[in-house]
Amino acid sequence: MAASQGTSKQKEVQRIMDVLARAIAQHRLPPGTRLIEAQIVDTLKANRNHVQSALQRLALQKIVTIEPNRGAHVSQPSAREARDIFAARRAIERGVVEAITPVKIEQHRKRIDAHMAAEREATRASDRRAIVRELSEFHRMLGEVSGNEVLVDILENLMVRSSLIVALYQRNDVPSCQHDEHGEILDALSKGDNDLAVARMRYHLDHLESELALDDEAAPEVNLKEALASIG
Ligand SMILES: [Zn+2]
Repeated sequence: MAASQGTSKQKEVQRIMDVLARAIAQHRLPPGTRLIEAQIVDTLKANRNHVQSALQRLALQKIVTIEPNRGAHVSQPSAREARDIFAARRAIERGVVEAITPVKIEQHRKRIDAHMAAEREATRASDRRAIVRELSEFHRMLGEVSGNEVLVDILENLMVRSSLIVALYQRNDVPSCQHDEHGEILDALSKGDNDLAVARMRYHLDHLESELALDDEAAPEVNLKEALASIG
């Protein structure tokens, strides 16, 4: 009895985490948004303890920040953290791409084709929310095609945190070339040319990072004393 209660609690906490992480990844809850427990309880028809556990677990994953007396809000990664996350993605996604064989591509062919069609459609319709969702879904999909569950778990966290970074630091609107770059990575993988796929993934991630305003001037550290002194 106790064990099954434990499992159902875990499932419920996971459900709440999934809904919140998805809303954050899709920019429905932008960085800095206050996450008010009572509202989450109401909206998700959830139990308060479960919501608290979900927020605490998201805080351990750095997706949510909990501050004493201020409660929880969606994290606002610093420029430095953003660079670190991209460095981590280069390492993890290299592992993902190295693990994908043409056989695995064929096994997932239907899903891959449906996904690429959805990306094309979102780009054609200039549907910003759909573009953000589909472009990051590509990376999750490759993780699953690789069949390495550990890489999938790490990547899931990095992708949600990447979407926070894009929301905070993206210079322009979503670039339309990304979809083509995804296609080129897939082409190399379908032919079994993993070295080329690794190089293309690396180029793609460098390109994504270059679209972000991560130079220090972009997010200056405010010196309170100096700021106040200059007023007088
Ligand atoms: Zn991409």
